[in-house]
Amino acid sequence: PPSGDYPEWVTLTTDTAAGQGIAGPAAGAEALAALNAAATELEAAQQPTWPDTAALSEVVATLASYPPLVFAGECDQLTQRMAAASVGEAFVLQGGDCAETFASATADNIRDRIKTILQMAAVLTYGASVPVVKVGRMAGQYAKPRSSSVETREGVTLPAFRGDIVNDFAFHEAARQPDPQRLVRAYHASSATLNLVRAFTTGGFADLRYVHEWNRGFVANSANARYEKLAHDIDKAMRFMAACGADFDAMRTVEFYAAHEALVLDYERPLTRIDSRSGRLYDTSGHFVWVGERTRQLDGAHIDFVSRVSNPIGVKLGPKADIDEVLRMIDKVDPDRTPGRLTFITRMGAGTIRDALPALVDKVTASGATVTWICDPMHGNTFESSTGYKTRDFEDIVEEVRGFFEVHRSLGTVPGGIHVELTGNDVTECLGGAEKIIDSDLEKRYESVCDPRLNHQQSLELAFVVAEMLGQ
Ligand code: PEP
Ligand code: MN
Repeated sequence: PPSGDYPEWVTLTTDTAAGQGIAGPAAGAEALAALNAAATELEAAQQPTWPDTAALSEVVATLASYPPLVFAGECDQLTQRMAAASVGEAFVLQGGDCAETFASATADNIRDRIKTILQMAAVLTYGASVPVVKVGRMAGQYAKPRSSSVETREGVTLPAFRGDIVNDFAFHEAARQPDPQRLVRAYHASSATLNLVRAFTTGGFADLRYVHEWNRGFVANSANARYEKLAHDIDKAMRFMAACGADFDAMRTVEFYAAHEALVLDYERPLTRIDSRSGRLYDTSGHFVWVGERTRQLDGAHIDFVSRVSNPIGVKLGPKADIDEVLRMIDKVDPDRTPGRLTFITRMGAGTIRDALPALVDKVTASGATVTWICDPMHGNTFESSTGYKTRDFEDIVEEVRGFFEVHRSLGTVPGGIHVELTGNDVTECLGGAEKIIDSDLEKRYESVCDPRLNHQQSLELAFVVAEMLGQ
């Protein structure tokens, strides 16, 4: 189990002004104590080995004293949006870096990722006439599970890079040493990112009347050009409606949610707070948190953790997911069968999804559960290029999404959204797309410190093909 202890200061409420005399928070305090007690009892996979437990305890105390990054009411609203997606009344677009880094949390990078997601959402909304729930893999996506805890390069073996929240990517002994201070840096980087996200999305930048603006600054290409046409049509429709006297607040601001993998529990637990309205616990590090394929053990600390917080929760499911285990997971994470509470993010692989997904969806549906199904077409399609880069082929990504739609449509269930690794930058990390990136291009601009991301153009292209599938 992870080290570090959690004394009573973790019982901070999300709303310090309220809470007195309400029955809820007392129950919350008990629940929070139980959550923290579980920290010492349960096996937690993929945790860093912190070198210094005293320093860790201090950091955990510091985190627990910080304000929440997100609020319970926002999380509840997202639960409702996810519920809408589970019945086909909305479509979820989750996207962002595989691994955010402290260095890349710049205004330009954040803006361009938001613009990319807004553009994709415009394409999906306009192309399929369905509201899009926009969720960034952002403002907290700093931790990575690894298939090996060490990495060897040219005969030198060092601890694996576990994300900026744990250690540094540079391949040196000192850099790879886990440093608990990084938990605090991750909080501040997340806070700054979220501040910019909130400013961009509520301060006018996301106003649909600026649909053209989101395309500015990106290198001209065929996907951009196609987007420009669509933006022109949207613009025209908006001006038509304005001329008719219609005026929607909904056009001016946008809901944009933050999501990340809840991996490092020494970060997630001290940011878990009691909602003073309800007495329930929320992980206030992000609106939506998910448990990864490598940490979703039924009796493990991660599933225990998410089962105790009230955020909308995701669980990644790979092709080997055991159906009975998945059913027991539903009982644990969503015992009340709350629509929107639980999302299964399937990542099967293009060649496997049509075989692996139907039985799973069938049994889950038969159990009476109301989960939201989202397709992650990235993680089942990773391979090493002939030039030695971890990559993915755009065609495989599209093919997995196509399989996802086919399976759900044939079962009468709902394809609720997609989960993709993307950047607003012009990187060369995934093969293919209209640009036809090939093996020898990968070295030109491979910047991810973990998995390969769709670049701006590939992201837009994906949005166009998914809009077509969604609109059918
Ligand atoms: C990820 O989303 O970056 C990831 C590690 O995914 P998975 O848990 O599905 O492998
Ligand atoms: Mn990844």
